[in-house]
Order: sequence, then C-alpha cells, then structure tokens
Amino acid sequence: MPVERTEPRGADELHKYYEIYETIGSGGFAKVKLGRHILTGEMVAIKIMNKKDLGDDLPRVKVEIEAMKNLSHQHVCRLYQVIETSTQIFMVLEYCPGGELFDYIIAKDRLSEEETRVFFRQIVSAIAYVHSQGYAHRDLKPENLLIDADHNLKLIDFGLCARPKGGLGYELMTCCGSPAYAAPELIQGKAYIGSEADVWSMGVLLFALLCGYLPFDDDNCVVLYRKITRGKYDNPHWLSPGSILLLNQMMQVDPKRRLSVRQLLDHPWVLKEYNSPVEWHSRRPVFSPKHTQICCYRYIHKHFGNILAIYFLFMLYHEFNYFCRICPSYCFHHTTTLPETIKNTVQALNCEKYYLCSYTKKKVKMLSLGRTAAHHRQERRDRDKTRENKENIAVQEKDAEKFLLPPPHTPVSSKKNARPAKNVLTTPNQNVNAVSPKGKNRSRSLDMAGLEDSGKKKRAGKVFGSLERGLDKMITMLTPSKRRALRDGPRKIKVQYNVTLTSQTNPDQVLNQILSILPTKNVDFTQKGYTLKCRTWGDFGKVTMAFELEVCLLQRPEVVGIRRQRLKGDAWVYKHLVEDILSTSSI
Ligand code: ADP
Repeated sequence: MPVERTEPRGADELHKYYEIYETIGSGGFAKVKLGRHILTGEMVAIKIMNKKDLGDDLPRVKVEIEAMKNLSHQHVCRLYQVIETSTQIFMVLEYCPGGELFDYIIAKDRLSEEETRVFFRQIVSAIAYVHSQGYAHRDLKPENLLIDADHNLKLIDFGLCARPKGGLGYELMTCCGSPAYAAPELIQGKAYIGSEADVWSMGVLLFALLCGYLPFDDDNCVVLYRKITRGKYDNPHWLSPGSILLLNQMMQVDPKRRLSVRQLLDHPWVLKEYNSPVEWHSRRPVFSPKHTQICCYRYIHKHFGNILAIYFLFMLYHEFNYFCRICPSYCFHHTTTLPETIKNTVQALNCEKYYLCSYTKKKVKMLSLGRTAAHHRQERRDRDKTRENKENIAVQEKDAEKFLLPPPHTPVSSKKNARPAKNVLTTPNQNVNAVSPKGKNRSRSLDMAGLEDSGKKKRAGKVFGSLERGLDKMITMLTPSKRRALRDGPRKIKVQYNVTLTSQTNPDQVLNQILSILPTKNVDFTQKGYTLKCRTWGDFGKVTMAFELEVCLLQRPEVVGIRRQRLKGDAWVYKHLVEDILSTSSI
C-alpha cells in the first residue's frame, strides 16, 4: 500500500488526481468528502485529517491505515491510497453511496427478520474475516457499516481495532468503542478477548436492526453501564423465538458463555432460508507482496516488455517491496504511487506515456496519461512479437498465487542496456505456461522490441486499435458531469430511505415551518435555498452535531419530502433530535 509523502504539496497531489466534492460525513477525527478519480471517473470517499487536530490520536489513524492495508474483503471498505503531507493525511476509500446502516434502520423504523438476516450474514462474514486476520474491530455499530451501490455492507472505522501480538486469544486492556455497544467486561475495565467483545457488539447491533432502538440505553453513563453489566433488556413482542434466542446467546454477560463467531457462521437463525453457512473467506484477490510482484511483473511485461519487467521486479524485490500491497492495479491507477526511480526508468525507455491497467474489474481498462497520436504511432512501431511472450501473460488472475517468480535478475539500469531478451521470462513453474481459454485475450503482448512481420503488425494493430477504442470510450465516460446548477426551486428527487414524506404539497410552507422550529430546539443553521445546514453546540463551543435537512419535491407520490443527512454527532441523539424537529413542525 503506498503511503506517499509529498512535502508540502500533498493537497495539490490530491487535486491532480481527484475532483473533490461535498462533505459526506465527519467523525471524531476526520472530514470525509466525496471525490472522483479524474482518469477513471470512479467515485471515492476521501477521509481528510489534520495532523494538528489529531494530536494524541495520530497513532489511531496509523492503526486504521495499517489495518486497512492488510484487509481485503468484500464486506470491508477498501483503502485505495494514502497521501500524507507534513500537516494532513488523506485516505482515499471505496465510496459507499448508500450511507450508514444506521440511517437505513431509522428510516425504516426497524428491519424485518428476513432483511436483518441478509445484513447480519454480511456482518458475520466481515467479522469472521477480520478475526481470521488477527484483528478485533472493537467499535462495531451501525454507523460503522456503510451500504455500497449494490446494497451490500462495508465495514469502516478501524481506528480502534487491535491486533494482539500473540494472536486474538490474548487479552486486551484498553476500554474503547461506543458505550452502548461495549461488552460488560470491557466497560468494567477487565482484561478481555477482542473477538468476544466484538460478538457482544454484534448482538447489540442485531438488536438495533430488529428493533430500531438499543437494548441498553440511558443518557446517564453510570446508569447505562449498570444496565450493560447486568445484561438485562426487554424483548419486544415482534421478535421471533429464534431471534430472542440468538440475541440472548450473543449478549451473554459472561464472555465464555457467549457464542463465538465460528458458531455464528452456521447458527440455525443465520442459516434459515439460506441453508448454507456464511461464506467469510475473502472473494477479493489476496494482495500479498508476492501476488503484487506477480501482478506488477505481468503488467510491466505486458506493456513494456521483458527488460523493464525484470528491472521492475528487481526494484520491487530490493527497494519497493513495501509500496503496493493492497491492490497493484491501484498502484498503477494512481500514478502518484509509482516511485520516482521507476517513473524515470519508464521515461528513460521512452515510454513516458504509459498505459495503466485495472485488473480488479476483470476487464482491462485502458487509461492514458495524455497520449498523443505521435506516441500511438511510435508504439505501433515498437510492438513485439506476441507469440514469444504468450505463455507469460496469458495467465488467469485467479491463478496468480500459484506462480513462482523467476529469481531477480541483474537490473538493466540504462537505456543503452535495454535490449529485448527473449525467453528470459521463462519461469520454472509449469502453471505459468498453462493458457486457459479465458487467458487468450491476455496474450496480447506489446513488447518494445518492434514488429518485423507485417502480418503480426496488422494483428497487433488490430489489438491496439481496439485498445484505443476502449480508451476513447473510457475518456468519454470519464468526462466529468457538469456540476449541478443551483436551482431556484426545491430539487425533485425519488423517494429514498433518508427522506421523510410529508402530507403537504407546498415546499415553502414546509420550509418555513422547519425554520421556525429550529431555534426552539437550539439548532443553529445556515440556509442555502431549500437546504438547511444545521448544527448544535456543546458547552465549550464545540460542534456536537451537524446535519442537513433539505426540503424537496417527490415525484411519486407528489408531495414534499425532507431529506435528512447526519454529518457529525451521535447517531441516536441525532435520530431523536430530527424526529423531534419534524414532529414539532407538524408537517
Ligand atoms: P472517524 O474515523 O473520524 O470517526 P469515519 O471513518 O467514521 O470517521 O467517517 C465518518 C463518516 O463519513 C462515516 O460515518 C460516514 O458517514 C462517512 N464515510 C466514511 N467513509 C465513507 C465511505 N467510504 N463512503 C461513504 N461515506 C463514508
């Protein structure tokens, strides 16, 4: 995983590669903004932290980065890139447009047992994986589970996670996390096992999903702690016997009597209507350093040929082994992460415009850094004989772990020495030579030696042409959408879970009602059209809560709606406050 130090222009680096949009969330340490990777058009979430503000919490951020670098799972939010300057840290994350699971629950009041099961299985999957990697999350709550574009959950916020040196069985001492979700042994200051504490939090979370409120709740911390340590809560009448039993088995005060995550994987409640245990293994490729090297090697080989591939491999082995552990495609994707030496080498070899591949989406997306027609022509001249390299690149991505790498060769340090060396890539591993049917497309090698044979030239030209067409298509796709123009009237939106429907049809009337109520609830606000940016303040002039209320028009049914978005502050306090505002506004 690249952590790039660009002193002092990290923010410039960020702007070079990303368009930065509005704030979509903020937490104890960070402001999170929506961003767009300029080259690919991919939306990202950028977590921005000021080192000065972090103070003693800087180690927490380091912990989070380190953990996210090591975790790669379909239900764990992906960390793409980290840019660090002397004053700030930017974490570029997979964007989850569905918002927090918390908002989803409160919008629906509570979830049905069937829908809860879908989400809960994903939570169990994420936690089983996280535990298998030696981590305890220690801050599980619905605010830390985001919903992605496919309505799947992604776990975030690893700032409080722990990876005991002796393994997860070792006891921890630090009391952390949100009190309402904290296990009894944790708030009592006892030594505890991280994975057991996570199961308790999962129990609280499961209760919140099924009920829409917390099992243990009180404004007074002492009272709350007493309730948690007693472990007594009421089961509402709508819970099925199966749900009651599972909750009871998870929220056992004695951690040794609590279910383990392993037991959760095939618990009868979890299995219901699925008939298969939770699949917790990562479906994402494992980006071990070795795998990274293989991908880098294959990539460079494919695009720049043997010599540079070996050189690159050498660099990875000896100098840059650390630099792209999470996802090699993103290392290329975010070119800032290519170490200078490699950039220089690429340039020295007259490839200063290079293609970047994304392996993650299975298809090869062609990205370009300002290619010109002249370069296209030059590269056409420079294309290699495809057949010779076929065996090395016609490799399925999923097979990559099986391959043995060739031992590092003496680096080619200058352009003069950079001669194409045939067969030099032959590996001792048989698997490398296996060309699967799917692998055929990958056998399009573009080496730098040049094409002698015109037939080959034509074939390669065809390949290249299709790549260029792909590139054109890509660029069209990348063209940033025009920023939403400010509208005079309220926005027209579809019904979403974070929109409260009113029975009214006049947006101005609704807006005025809310405007008159906010001051009575001690909510400070600024107005921008039909959007109210609201804040509440604590005793020491600190913002305790920030959220947006937007009056909008719904199409079906044709009524006025209020879109809510929490930006900062305790989720349950926010829920009560917004409910209070909207009910008092009598809309
Ligand atoms: P902190 O570590 O300061 O508590 P978080 O990581 O919890 O910050 O992020 C704060 C909020 O920002 C989240 O609760 C969520 O609403 C939003 N957020 C964080 N990451 C993403 C993401 N990847 N996609 C969308 N929203 C996000």
